[in-house]
Amino acid sequence: MKKTLFLLLAAATIFSCSTTKEITEPAAVAHKAPAYGDMFTEKTLRYDFHHAGDNSNEYYYFDRLILEGEWAGSRESLINPFDYGEQHFRIVDAASGKVIYKNNYCTLFNEWQTTPEAAVTQRSFPESVIFPQPKNDFIIEFYARNKKSKEWEKKEEHKVSVNDYNIKPGNCDYEKVDIHIGGDIAHSLDIVLLPDGFATEEKYKFIAACHMWSDALFSYAPFTQNKHRINIRAVWAPSAESGISIPGKGEWKKTLLDCRFFTFGSERYQMTEEFQKVRDVAAAAPYESIFILTNTDKYGGGGIYNFYGLGSAGKTGRTGEVYVHEFGHSLMGLGDEYVEIGNTVSALYPEGVEPWEANLTRFVDFNGKWEKKIAEGTPIPTQVTAESSEKDWKIGAYEGGGYLEKGIYRGWPECMMKALTDFCPVCQEAINRYLDYICK
Ligand SMILES: [Zn+2]
Repeated sequence: MKKTLFLLLAAATIFSCSTTKEITEPAAVAHKAPAYGDMFTEKTLRYDFHHAGDNSNEYYYFDRLILEGEWAGSRESLINPFDYGEQHFRIVDAASGKVIYKNNYCTLFNEWQTTPEAAVTQRSFPESVIFPQPKNDFIIEFYARNKKSKEWEKKEEHKVSVNDYNIKPGNCDYEKVDIHIGGDIAHSLDIVLLPDGFATEEKYKFIAACHMWSDALFSYAPFTQNKHRINIRAVWAPSAESGISIPGKGEWKKTLLDCRFFTFGSERYQMTEEFQKVRDVAAAAPYESIFILTNTDKYGGGGIYNFYGLGSAGKTGRTGEVYVHEFGHSLMGLGDEYVEIGNTVSALYPEGVEPWEANLTRFVDFNGKWEKKIAEGTPIPTQVTAESSEKDWKIGAYEGGGYLEKGIYRGWPECMMKALTDFCPVCQEAINRYLDYICK
């Protein structure tokens, strides 16, 4: 049963972002962020672009700027201090040269770059980032990890005049439905749930699925304890047809977000490449984190850090647990802690490179992860015997994780990111730290 589950999970999440070594931020972004009101309005600015290239080259092509609704993020936490992800962008004040906003993320393009197709083909994916609207002219800078060294490299910069008449006003009139409101927008994590493949008459089926998603999230620590600072809103946006496309079986549906199975040839990897359409619909609600619920019973989904998470809304098997697992990926890039038996080499977690994920280590740069939580005298690798019960477990370095059997370590025997059980203490602490930043 477990093995089957691992295989299913592997199919859904094997493409979660690849590894890297932790990099110290340059002094330019280490300064304390200026007061929010001096630099930003209360609105959200959206920068759409196309991310193109192949497995070793990437290019950024500007598309458009859109002025959207209320900024849902913190007014204090403006420079993301977590070195997660394969990408980050910075907003630099043009006059002073100071970085006034920074955020990290991963994309579907990053994952496509690891596929065989990327060795022989060039492709372009629509992408988009959001940030609080600057009051003064700014430069947006895009950074990506070097494919070998994993150090950050600046790839593109674009100077923007805030008075540019081409900045288009957002025009989103889809209906917003509150599912759970825990706190005020600035001091909460704002999650938006989006539908795909729900026809006009299926609104209440979607809303019921949103309540199930919310109940699933709040049934797991540490989300249970953080209910007061998490908001969940749904956007009702019907599709022309009911159901989801399954290209590998010749089944195509006209759906609003164009979600489909068989992404990059993996049947259970259900995603959409139309990320700008996703932003168009999400804009009906203030949001920081996107999760898409698709109208299908077929197992599949995925989650990409600060991009979006996706899961099937049909109530089959362990739907709630899978939602929360994928949300672990999309909220803060938690890595998969499970092992694929016999797997000894992975392009995602190369030897000698520290995973950037908070819950995996190769001991290349363990500093700042959970090393201080390991009691003195704990053997490394840490082991549990078949007879030991959970109350005897302690934080350590258990070998296996990130799909590999050897050379990579997790902090606890079991976890939501391993076998859909409760989040382990290492993940719980990392989630709490992340929420403290977002909700400041
Ligand atoms: Zn964990």
